[in-house]
Amino acid sequence: MLYDVSMPISPEIQVYRNNPDKLPKFLTSSSHDTGEIHETEITMNLHTGTHLDYPLHMVKNGATSDVEELRDLITDVKVFDVSYLTESIDLNTVKKFDIQKDDFILFKTKNSYSETFLDDFTYLGMDAARYLRDRQIKGVGIDGLGIERSQKGHPTHLALLENGIIIIEGLRLKEVKQNTYKMICLPLKIKNVEATPARIILLDK
Ligand SMILES: [Zn+2]
Repeated sequence: MLYDVSMPISPEIQVYRNNPDKLPKFLTSSSHDTGEIHETEITMNLHTGTHLDYPLHMVKNGATSDVEELRDLITDVKVFDVSYLTESIDLNTVKKFDIQKDDFILFKTKNSYSETFLDDFTYLGMDAARYLRDRQIKGVGIDGLGIERSQKGHPTHLALLENGIIIIEGLRLKEVKQNTYKMICLPLKIKNVEATPARIILLDK
């Protein structure tokens, strides 16, 4: 079975805090009525839909998309279903799971069941993020447009990004059950930026 866990990008896509400035803009720059060919221009924030964050997003002079290694993104992943949680993914929750060094973890939350932005989206709490850091995981993904929510100083992002842990945001995991899968994550090859949109699929093992 193949699961496409990426968000479709359209002018109506859900965006962070429903901020209209963050909506992607689609412009038909040439059409068959006005020219010989059809062409579209898209203007969009790189944190639109399913994407990876790099340290520069939170850290001045931090590393960018240039550090990305595809071999880290084509890997086994453990999907943990925490869709019963209403607030944050907390330390007690992550401690119950089998998490080992170099694991790549995806959290399935209630966010996957909403096609509109949830003001109370489930996020990864600071203590849980620090626990994952101490476990030396390779990467972590979540189905919200942010991996944290209104945490002063962005401690979740920093615990992960300062330790080279890959962050994926905006996954769609409604159809995916808790299990281990093969992930193929292919971010757009954009040089030297703080985030890259990605197409991501999971395959049954
Ligand atoms: Zn982001």
